[in-house]
Amino acid sequence: AASSPSVIIVGAGMSGISAAKRLHDNNIKDFIILEATNRIAGRIHKTEFGGRTVEKGANWLHGVGGPQKNPMYEIAKKIKLKSYYSDFSNMSFNTYNEEGKLFSKKEVDGALDMAESNEEFGTKLAEKYSADTKVDNDMSLLALERLNRKEPKTALERMIDFYSFDGEQAEAPRVTSLKHIFPRPEFELFGDGEYFVADSRGFESIVHVLAKSFLTYTNDTITDPRVMFKQVVTEVDYSKKGEVTVKTEDGKVYQAKKVILSPSIGVLQSDLIKFKPELPMWKRIAIDEFSIGIYTKIFLQFPKTFWPTGKGTEFFFYAHPRRGYYAIWQQLEAEYPGSNILFVTVTDDESKRVEQQPDEDTKAEAMEVLRKIFGKDIPNPTQIMIPRWYSDRLYRGTFTNWPAGYTIQKHNNLRAPVGSVYFTGEHTHPELYGYADGAYYAGVNTAKDVINCLKRKMCKTSYNNHI
Ligand code: FAD
Repeated sequence: AASSPSVIIVGAGMSGISAAKRLHDNNIKDFIILEATNRIAGRIHKTEFGGRTVEKGANWLHGVGGPQKNPMYEIAKKIKLKSYYSDFSNMSFNTYNEEGKLFSKKEVDGALDMAESNEEFGTKLAEKYSADTKVDNDMSLLALERLNRKEPKTALERMIDFYSFDGEQAEAPRVTSLKHIFPRPEFELFGDGEYFVADSRGFESIVHVLAKSFLTYTNDTITDPRVMFKQVVTEVDYSKKGEVTVKTEDGKVYQAKKVILSPSIGVLQSDLIKFKPELPMWKRIAIDEFSIGIYTKIFLQFPKTFWPTGKGTEFFFYAHPRRGYYAIWQQLEAEYPGSNILFVTVTDDESKRVEQQPDEDTKAEAMEVLRKIFGKDIPNPTQIMIPRWYSDRLYRGTFTNWPAGYTIQKHNNLRAPVGSVYFTGEHTHPELYGYADGAYYAGVNTAKDVINCLKRKMCKTSYNNHI
């Protein structure tokens, strides 16, 4: 019909917005964006906590010292978004054992040396693997640690291991691919300094800057008729060649020549969206075998600070025999003086467990740890906030992780279109998957494929050689 758009984009997160912008810039302006929630930016999501703005989702930017500019970082710089260099170098002085006593510098340095040796050995092997394009060799990070005869065993070694890997990938070394982690493309490209965003406009203001460059806003609200909020897509029918029909939970039906799907891979692994016909087996395997972790920041606000503040105290670490048990703590006194906010990060199975129990239980567990470290007399928190990304049917996880043994061919299949159905989202970027900038570039790449097909009839992508 004359009124149907050329392209439907499902999801208005970073990748959906970046895909739409690319279409717009290439003069395909008759797209619509169907977004399940009432906001854009998806997994980039600020919230108010204890009178301050904190980030439930993406928090850190990489962008200083690498050979390439991170587009997110460049926008952040332009709008003077407040971000703070995260200094992890003090681990030797603020790592506590199970009883809440500080480890000696020598003990922590020993465990850090072990991690460094694994990283050096791993980087060499990964480079060898990557250079051999004939064989798609890989192993897990845990296998690498064994091969290097440096498998972390003590509570302290396992805490450092958790910090090094789970703290970045949100999954354990037994899951994670060696080849796709060392060296980390995100760090190699943009620099390995991590900048923590703490600004009342939120990390999401970066997405709004992009969106404002091509969508209509009235005051600070999107009023562009092409963006439709509260539209949960539940069906994608691509049975007719050259057109797709998309249905939403509230019974609306939309038609277009192409659809771009940007929901997280967690959503694609669930049955929220039904495909007609069902996606082919090569595609389903590519989707179901990729991995998405869970990364949970548990925020606590106190009546006063009872932890050390000042230079070198931003983080402290707790080594419980149960790996990843309230291990990584961060305080916000530099960012928000007088806020009395602490947060602790848990991942994966601990995240699932914490999501399923009452907040009161989590509070009690966290307080038991803090009382061991800072004494019995510290006050209880006045507030707690726990994001639940895994239970949320619109996310089902936080960001992807390349699992050991998942081939490059499978990842090509993950981003390959099926008929008129295109895929984007952070998980489709072969190097920067997991990160907000990966989502940005994924949107650009998928839009390019759609533009080539619609405008130049070049519909075959270089990577869909799966059939
Ligand atoms: P999303 O943001 O998930 O966007 C998809 C959109 O689709 C969402 O708006 C969703 O509501 C919508 N949607 C889902 N299902 C449907 C449906 N059926 N119908 C309609 N709409 C639907 N990245 C960094 O760079 N640095 C970090 O420090 C960092 N930390 C993170 C910490 C956490 C806790 C989380 C959650 C993420 C973090 N990330 C970080 C990752 C980063 O946020 C993501 O990679 C990126 O935002 C993903 O963008 P996307 O467009 O691919 O997906």
